[in-house]
Amino acid sequence: MEKVRTSRLIGKTVSDTSGKVLGTVEDVELSGGSVYLVVRTASQGSQGSPARTSQFWVSWDQVASVQDIILLKIKHEMAAPQAKICAACGYQNPTVAQFCRKCGRALV
Ligand SMILES: [Zn+2]
Repeated sequence: MEKVRTSRLIGKTVSDTSGKVLGTVEDVELSGGSVYLVVRTASQGSQGSPARTSQFWVSWDQVASVQDIILLKIKHEMAAPQAKICAACGYQNPTVAQFCRKCGRALV
């Protein structure tokens, strides 16, 4: 494996073979002798909602190239969150909802 400084990787955009942006690199982890990119998926819609983002790990083996963006060899089928999870009660609201339909808390 070529040596790539982790500081170069963090914050980079990750794209799959179809050119779809999957997220940005949040961290680089060493686990079981393999290097993994911890990718934080971009939140859609309203900003600043930690409940709307998720992370997944990508093995370094799946990285095709590192340039301005990180291109993966794989096509990652993202399980995109289709719901706004209420931070208070956990109810899954439609993405268009402004307030929790169960407890009424504002969804940000
Ligand atoms: Zn709620």
